[in-house]
Amino acid sequence: MATRAKYSRIVLKLSGEALAGDAGFGIDPKIIQSIAKQIKEIVELGVEVAVVVGAGNIWRGKIGSEMGMDRATADYMGMLATVMNALALQDGLEKIGVETRVQTSIEMRQVAEPYIRRRAIRHLEKKRVVIFAAGTGNPYFSTDTTAALRAAEIEAEVILMAKNKVDGVYSADPRVDRNAVKYTQLSYLDVLNEGLGVMDSTASSLCMDNDIPLIVFSITEPGNIKRVVQGEEIGTIVRGK
Ligand code: UDP
Repeated sequence: MATRAKYSRIVLKLSGEALAGDAGFGIDPKIIQSIAKQIKEIVELGVEVAVVVGAGNIWRGKIGSEMGMDRATADYMGMLATVMNALALQDGLEKIGVETRVQTSIEMRQVAEPYIRRRAIRHLEKKRVVIFAAGTGNPYFSTDTTAALRAAEIEAEVILMAKNKVDGVYSADPRVDRNAVKYTQLSYLDVLNEGLGVMDSTASSLCMDNDIPLIVFSITEPGNIKRVVQGEEIGTIVRGK
């Protein structure tokens, strides 16, 4: 097995669900510890790590709008919820000696730095983990789109999409359909045409147009982030047209 990293700069996309553990909601401190340890392992390999956090464990704009709320307001709530997850992850990382910075797309200077691209890159060069919070700062977008956008901006080589208990992309939901088949490789057009629930279409198009590969894998097994970074093919890789 390779001991060196295959990538020098990555974006790790953590859905809110990945932070929730078995409860399915909220933040599980044990999960935060496990993820922080896994991130530390790749920082020690010399990989520059930017993290984009979601908020499905706390709030999704869509749910609010289905309950009759104004969609944009509900989306802003979702973006604020990502900041809570970012702070929890920052705390977990700093507790084990990993230097971090949180940058938010909605300014809240008492809590974190505002998102400034050049500054984020500088932090990465100094081997600080940069956690991007508050999504893109715009309603009607997702944190998957944020991951695609930030990856393009900071010139990351790949997006690692860490899933909770799902180890890649399947033809159907493997938790529901026993005949679901796991794909090892897909193109973005496959994802878009077949409506595979990997990421939303805005995020997929952005990745496709900017040639950013995506690796979908399970974060449930400790050490998986390192495996992916070292080039082990354990999930599904999405790239190209
Ligand atoms: N959100 C948004 N704009 C963004 C990113 C996120 O409005 O650029 C809101 C949206 O309401 C979304 C919520 O924040 O439902 C949480 O993000 P997401 O659903 O992507 O989280 P994940 O599924 O990754 O946990």
